[in-house]
Formats: sequence, C-alpha cells, structure tokens
Amino acid sequence: MPNEIKHSCVDCAVTLCDAHNPEKKFPPFCISRAMTEEQRDKSLKEYFTDPEDKKIIQVAATVESEGYRKWPRVQETILFAKRMGYKKIGIATCTALIKESRTLTKMLRANGFEVYGISCKAGEVPKTELGIPPMHHGPGHIACNPVLQAQLLEEEGTDLNIVMGLCVGHDILFNKHSHAPTTTLVVKDRVLMHNPAAALHHADGYYKNLCEDIGE
Ligand code: SF4
Repeated sequence: MPNEIKHSCVDCAVTLCDAHNPEKKFPPFCISRAMTEEQRDKSLKEYFTDPEDKKIIQVAATVESEGYRKWPRVQETILFAKRMGYKKIGIATCTALIKESRTLTKMLRANGFEVYGISCKAGEVPKTELGIPPMHHGPGHIACNPVLQAQLLEEEGTDLNIVMGLCVGHDILFNKHSHAPTTTLVVKDRVLMHNPAAALHHADGYYKNLCEDIGE
C-alpha cells in the first residue's frame, strides 16, 4: 500500500454529489470543489464538439430515467441501441456464454437489428503461437483472440459492440481494439454466476481476505 493516499471520490462518504443540496457535507478533498473551471469545461466541450458523444449522453439519460429500477440491463441496452439509431450490432462472446449470446441475438433480431457475433476462440490460434507457456494452457490450448474479435466486427461495420463474458484482460484488449462504441452486458465471473459485485458485497465476510494483500 502506498505510504501517502491521495484522497478522491472513492474515499468519500457523500453520495449523489449536489452542491445545491444544503444537507450535503463535502469532504475537504472534494473533487468537485477542487477542480478548475478549465477541467470542467474541457469535459463539457467534448459533448458539444463530438455529436456522437452528445447523442450518447442524452439518449443514456432517457434510458436511465424511464427505465430506472424497472428495466433489466438487456432491455436498457436494446432501447439505448434503438434510440441511437444503430442498425447492426456486434457481439463479442466468450464460447462459454454462447447460449446467452444466442438468446441475446434472438432478442436483438426480434427488435429489428442485424446481428453478427464472433466467439473468443474464432481463428483457433494455439496459445503457443502467442508465446504462452504450456503451464498456462489450461483450460485449453486454443487461445481467446479478442483482437481478432474486434477486427472482424470492424470489417462487418457494426454500429455497436456488446461484450458477453470475455475474460479479464481479454475484455481489456477487445475494448482497446473495438472501433465501434462498446458496452458490456455480461461480466465474466466463473465463481459468482457472472456477478463480480457479489464479492464486494461480501467483503466483510466470505471475501474478507481480499481486503488484504493477496500476493502475486
Ligand atoms: S465530487 Fe466531492 S462529494 Fe462527490 S464523491 Fe467526489 S469527493 Fe465526494
């Protein structure tokens, strides 16, 4: 752990930051209070110079407000895509989530979208070709290939890509290489039914050990 912690929003107990609420007591390190006008304006400028960013933030607000505590994420995703005017959806799926990806495809097609999905094992590249030693070939010798997934979806000209359960690291590479805007519907967690938040909810119990250095 670093000797000196630079406090930020993650160290703050205030929720729903809002300077207009007199009951809110902001910490001395409050990010909103400390930031310059220039920093704030730099972000706002982005929304007004990039029409896509502006549309995304405005459409997201309609989905959040109308679906708040009513719509599951998949419904939000479908409606977001419709309101954005997207026509073709790419799915970057883990092979282990192929059943769920088929169901998602059925839902998307029923809502008028063209769907094109690429599995993580497409291309069938052996792990040895990526310089991965045999001791790390479990649970199989064929590598996931998130860069290929992103490249093939780009060739197809998808308007939006949806990540379905890619592994940690593979999701990072897919996001890095995806040219279309990308959202995640399923986050892989093989132990917690793809709900990684469960380990955070139980950090004072079953997963207490994770609050200490767990080593390499
Ligand atoms: S902006 Fe200020 S009040 Fe809001 S979470 Fe960050 S530190 Fe807390």
